[in-house]
Amino acid sequence: MNLKIAIQKKGRLSEKSLQLLEECGINISNGSRVLKAKAKNFPIEILFLRDDDIPQYVEQGVVDLGILGENEVLEKDKDVSIVSKLGFAQCRLSLAIPKEEDYKGLSYFEGKKIATSYPKILSNFFEKENINVQIEEIGGSVEIAPSIGLAQGIFDIVSTGSTLITNGLKEVETILTSEAVLIGTKNLSSEKQEILDRLLFRINAVQSSSENKYILLNAPNDNLQEIINILPGIKSPTILPLAKEGWSSIHSVIKEDTFWEIIEQLKNKGAEGILVLEIEKMIL
Ligand code: ATP
Ligand code: MG
Repeated sequence: MNLKIAIQKKGRLSEKSLQLLEECGINISNGSRVLKAKAKNFPIEILFLRDDDIPQYVEQGVVDLGILGENEVLEKDKDVSIVSKLGFAQCRLSLAIPKEEDYKGLSYFEGKKIATSYPKILSNFFEKENINVQIEEIGGSVEIAPSIGLAQGIFDIVSTGSTLITNGLKEVETILTSEAVLIGTKNLSSEKQEILDRLLFRINAVQSSSENKYILLNAPNDNLQEIINILPGIKSPTILPLAKEGWSSIHSVIKEDTFWEIIEQLKNKGAEGILVLEIEKMIL
């Protein structure tokens, strides 16, 4: 019994999706043109598809799982469940208009024509806002639509906003934020659910390892308690006596996002020889 997972064949998600599976210890020898590969050491089969097709395959149960952008899941609106957010491919979907336009609020769009590859998300949004717009669905290069007279505004993916500026546009409203997600079929057999649980266990270990760092430092015994209070650790830090009289070595785990703040506090309390290491896997 194999779990079937679909990932993007070629594009912004493909490399990161494969990397996540690899970090979960799932090895695939992906030749250049294969569409399907079986992992050597885990009961999983990987299918390489266009991201647009993944929700449909998952809904029909042709594959059990898929990795793709939340934006694509919402746009396709298929009957699938979001099993886990994956924390990569973060972007936002925004409305943009020519930069010289005066913008005072959403009512600007009343009666206007908007070009997008995400017609469903956009029409749901304006319906809720009770604003009438005309939606022009196009497949790509949405940013040039206003300059060639196809539409007065656009609704598209933005990550840094530099493409908008290059095309003389300004972002005026963010409608959705998105990241890569793992989606799944609604009715998995108990056998497959078991494999999925094993996979999720590994994904969680990979995610917490990237959110945490391992820290080692030397501390004067006089300030030991204060230093321990700065370092919450997973349970409590490990303390080892140093050969140098009056000093100890402390080992602990700290969160990536509070990292610099903690280092500063530790230095203020006399900590020395601070080493911060990557954690490869973390099982709580
Ligand atoms: P496919 O050929 O598989 O249909 P695509 O052209 O639809 O690919 P990509 O451009 O590879 O899609 O983007 C895939 C997903 O990556 C998007 O749906 C979105 O979730 C995310 N994404 C797209 N652009 C960016 C960006 N600039 N920054 C971050 N994430 C992005
Ligand atoms: Mg696509």
